[in-house]
Amino acid sequence: MQFRDLKKQYQILKKDIDQAIVSVLNEGNYILGKQVEELEESLAEYVGVKHCITCGNGTDALTMALMTLDIKEGDAIFVPNFTFFATAEAVSFSGATPIFVDVDEETFNLDPKKLEIVIKNVLSERRFIPKAIIAVDLFGLPADYVNIKKVADRYNLKIIEDGAQGFGGSINGKRACSFGDISTTSFFPAKPLGCYGDGGAIFTDNDAYAEYLKSIQVHGKNGADKYDNVRIGMNSRLDTLQAAILQVKLKAFIDYELEAVNKVASWYDQRLREIVDVPTIPEGFYSSWAQYTIKLKSKKQRDELQAKLKDTEIPTMIYYPKTMSEQTAYKDLDVKNANLSISEKLSKTVLSLPMHPYFMGEEIEIVCAKIKKCDLT
Ligand SMILES: *Cc1c(COP(=O)(O)O)cnc(C)c1O
Repeated sequence: MQFRDLKKQYQILKKDIDQAIVSVLNEGNYILGKQVEELEESLAEYVGVKHCITCGNGTDALTMALMTLDIKEGDAIFVPNFTFFATAEAVSFSGATPIFVDVDEETFNLDPKKLEIVIKNVLSERRFIPKAIIAVDLFGLPADYVNIKKVADRYNLKIIEDGAQGFGGSINGKRACSFGDISTTSFFPAKPLGCYGDGGAIFTDNDAYAEYLKSIQVHGKNGADKYDNVRIGMNSRLDTLQAAILQVKLKAFIDYELEAVNKVASWYDQRLREIVDVPTIPEGFYSSWAQYTIKLKSKKQRDELQAKLKDTEIPTMIYYPKTMSEQTAYKDLDVKNANLSISEKLSKTVLSLPMHPYFMGEEIEIVCAKIKKCDLT
């Protein structure tokens, strides 16, 4: 059993993917070939924003978003304490200071009420200038953008949506990666929409941001002229090969994969909700199920369940065993953190089960039967 079966997906899409790869090889435009621009158009249309700029990976996408907003040393950027390291890392890389905010116990996402408390603390301390919030669509579920936006507007902060795990999710029909002033995603192979290497994208409705992003994508070029460099940029582009692969994968994602993972989630729910704490999807929200994550009663119970499943070759993962504030890299971060108890509790009790669009029938029954057999009282 695979935790996320990318080989099975390839077997199903093989003919189209192989053909897409061969076309790129024959055409020879390995960097910024036509597939890249076509993909950007398809992605922008699907998400429902004006501009999509692809880039090297989801971490670069965050870095480029922060550069666009002119984030620098002395700035405070509010980041959920329960996320993948890159969310905070990009902030530190920009020279700014990540301020960790606790998350909601049910959705795993940034808690807007706690966000406001932390912003007030930072304002009263006067050490850092609050500039932006990075909200993460953790495990595929969009963050609570309605309430995050209210807080952002009250304190004049920009929103960056880290949609690395959120592509395909939505709130009342409005798609993930459209909620930030700038939104980002990742095409790392195991993400909801993955390529066969590293890749990422940035989304925005703002024309000036888009122009700036296209410039820093290629060494701070001046419009179309890459040998006239008007600012310090990066070299962060999506390979044409990856774009061609993503064109095939995006079609499958839209046609049936997103629906399929939602079906897998509902099968899990039906079989597990009586015995464990299953994920909560608020009214109007739709998840792209980057992970299906259950909560156990204690670290001991979680670790024992994981070990028992491993004995029968059922792969599970712990996302994330350490919160941001507990990371060694942040041990010297001299910031008074507010109460982070929920994220700390989650890191000890969550367990992600095998999940992907091709995870079907018999395999789900095996996982659920095994969990049922474990004594979880
Ligand atoms: C994966 C991930 C990233 C980074 O994406 P890469 O493409 O691996 O650089 C950033 N944020 C979150 C929440 C992620 O899950």
